[in-house]
Amino acid sequence: MKYPCVEIDINKIRHNARYVVDYCGKNGIEVMGITKGICALLPVVMAMLDAGVKKLGDSRLHNIEALRKAGFEVPIYLIRIPMLSEVRDAVHLADGSLNSEVGVIKALAHEAQAIGKIHKVILMVDVGDLREGVMPEDVLDVAGQIIGCPGVEFEGLGTNLGCYGGILASYENTKVLVDLAADIEKRYGIKVKTLSGGNTATLALLEKGELAPGINQFRIGEAILLGTDETNSRNVPGTLQGTMKLKAEVIEVKTKPSLPIGEVGRDAFGNVPVFEDKGLMKRAIVALGKQDCRIEGLRPLDETIEILGASSDHMIIDVTKRSKIETGDVLEFGMNYGAMLSLMTSKYVDKITLC
Ligand SMILES: *Cc1c(COP(=O)(O)O)cnc(C)c1O
Repeated sequence: MKYPCVEIDINKIRHNARYVVDYCGKNGIEVMGITKGICALLPVVMAMLDAGVKKLGDSRLHNIEALRKAGFEVPIYLIRIPMLSEVRDAVHLADGSLNSEVGVIKALAHEAQAIGKIHKVILMVDVGDLREGVMPEDVLDVAGQIIGCPGVEFEGLGTNLGCYGGILASYENTKVLVDLAADIEKRYGIKVKTLSGGNTATLALLEKGELAPGINQFRIGEAILLGTDETNSRNVPGTLQGTMKLKAEVIEVKTKPSLPIGEVGRDAFGNVPVFEDKGLMKRAIVALGKQDCRIEGLRPLDETIEILGASSDHMIIDVTKRSKIETGDVLEFGMNYGAMLSLMTSKYVDKITLC
């Protein structure tokens, strides 16, 4: 086996996807399976579809292109509002996209018309997280500019919470979407089909019975891929964790002081490091670093060891309490969303799917 590698338990992910699809389904909510966290790795995407996911979303056209090349025929949405420079590819590759800029939507419409397609538009509303979206007071006007625009279909409204501003979903902020949809239906005499009310973090609101009725779509990545909900600091009930494991190989084991020796300058990333003097320490280095992984998001599966830090290619571990360790040993780590994202993106990390 080649190291470092991420081992992915496809059965666990399939279980999670099935659970989320069933749970949301019972509540009248369809699940768009979000594939960006695993760079649209095909066996994982297949597990999502096996489990009943009927729509996919990804933030990168690069990933959507790979899904198209693999022959998936389900609707796929671009979930990062498109760059003007990618409008053409977006129309060719994706069935729809999340949007917040009229100029971009007009460009999508133009391109779609040129090739005889209808591109679906979900208009994003910013209900407080202050990432993407039109402010609520502007939605009626902007919707009016999209409705009736040839080449695009105004499919509905969407919102995103708990990502940038860390704002939690609530009855009040999801209700904003439902009320705006009612206003649009009344004013323009159309049916607003989709109300895409959130992501993994919004599942908690549904569990508490506090989701505004009318929301009928969630875009779910983390709960399926990791069984966690970072925004609410919890595991998602009904899902399995430990879906992915990082394995890295030990390349040095030595007893060294815990305090570096000599005059302190900056580390390789421009920070002035601060260390605690714990006396002599047995330290191991594994061959993996910040170029591959957001190290803060790793957690050793062996609880006797502790990650001290890393440079670009080396991660340093306190193994003083571990009974036996030598070069060539393989250490295992669990991960959060940020660590998963970086590991999956690194071409230096092997991805192994276990079925
Ligand atoms: C990443 C993303 C999601 C998925 O979020 P999870 O927390 O992984 O469920 C949903 N919507 C948008 C717009 C995203 O960028």
